[in-house]
Amino acid sequence: MFSHLPPYAGDPILSLMEVFQRDERANKVNLSIGIYTDGRGIVPVLPSVRTAAAEIAKEVKPYVYLPMEGHGGYRQAVAQLLFGADLPAPEHLAVVQTLGGSGALKVGADLIARFFPQPTVWIPDPTWDNHIGIFEGAGFKVERYPYYDAATRGLDFNGMLGKIDSLPRGAVVLLHPCCHNPTGVDPTREQWEQIVAVIEKRGLLPFFDLAYQGFAESLEADIWPVRECVRRGIAFFLSNSFSKIFSLYSERVGALSVFCPQKDQAANVLGQLKLTVRRNYSSPPMHGALLVARVLSDATLAAQWRAEVEEMRLRVRDMRSKLAAQLKTAVPDQDFSFLLKQHGMFGYTGLSAAQVERLRNEFGVYAIATGRICVAGLNDGNVARVAETMAEVLRG
Ligand code: PMP
Repeated sequence: MFSHLPPYAGDPILSLMEVFQRDERANKVNLSIGIYTDGRGIVPVLPSVRTAAAEIAKEVKPYVYLPMEGHGGYRQAVAQLLFGADLPAPEHLAVVQTLGGSGALKVGADLIARFFPQPTVWIPDPTWDNHIGIFEGAGFKVERYPYYDAATRGLDFNGMLGKIDSLPRGAVVLLHPCCHNPTGVDPTREQWEQIVAVIEKRGLLPFFDLAYQGFAESLEADIWPVRECVRRGIAFFLSNSFSKIFSLYSERVGALSVFCPQKDQAANVLGQLKLTVRRNYSSPPMHGALLVARVLSDATLAAQWRAEVEEMRLRVRDMRSKLAAQLKTAVPDQDFSFLLKQHGMFGYTGLSAAQVERLRNEFGVYAIATGRICVAGLNDGNVARVAETMAEVLRG
């Protein structure tokens, strides 16, 4: 019956995680997977979330299904967090709770594919690998726009803007509002202004994927391009994830928001989103949504959580500085200032696939073949060794 099924080679990043777990070297360091660990190298339970979890545990209620669109209080709190003072009126906004950011991308992609036949999405080159899988899986043709410039280790802004400015009306453009995964390279505010202006001029459909809100500059600044689209009345899709910024990976909490500038379209969009959810998994789970809703709806817990996000952001920034400074000392003829310009948990180091392999085989330091490291996996206990071993492979 199943003899024609080919084996699955495995996800490159998740497979590396298994190799790491089997590695018996005591001083091994995992910088491959996108998980935030604290200064002790532990995935934190945020104190705000711990308090919310304890409160919720005291109020066990029957486990009835959530509606297709998810928990009402959660959806409200998420919309408030995303849009703040720019929160569109309900007739302009459709929000559904999703299974993490991945679930939001999938529900959004399915919806677009159903109502815009033969869709194409333009994604940055490079991007998070699963963007390709999710959009292709939903029936999209996936095309790329220039993004990373290996020569400058920065943004190929002219290439990016030029390509976006050539796309046909209605084209779907996937954008990372902040903390680009995998490069850590983001457009500046001035560059975003130009990107949004071109999107408006050409009548494109932006699909923002926000997995790291608050990890670049602040919760407010990092979502600026999205809010600018609200101000200009540009329709968009927005997927957001709480996996990292609430450290709630396994709870699978996220949301998909669709902004509908034309009044009274949001009700139909919400209806079709519900139908998409119904056909996929019927309704989302409760617990993660309750945790996030509780934290965001309680002024004290919300303030505490904002401070926790800021603490994570600053810790990662500190690790970037330490890595760059120690690399500079070890390899003085090379410039590592590009590391300081990157935002968020990830960064491109400029290491080649062969250098990454040496790093893993000889020193037990795990990065991705593209040279991407998860800076959030560094701490005071391992950063010196990572810098030394990176310097060693860089010297050749
Ligand atoms: N988008 C981007 C850019 C990501 O980096 C990730 C997580 N690695 C996701 C979406 C998926 O988020 P989640 O784990 O919540 O599904």
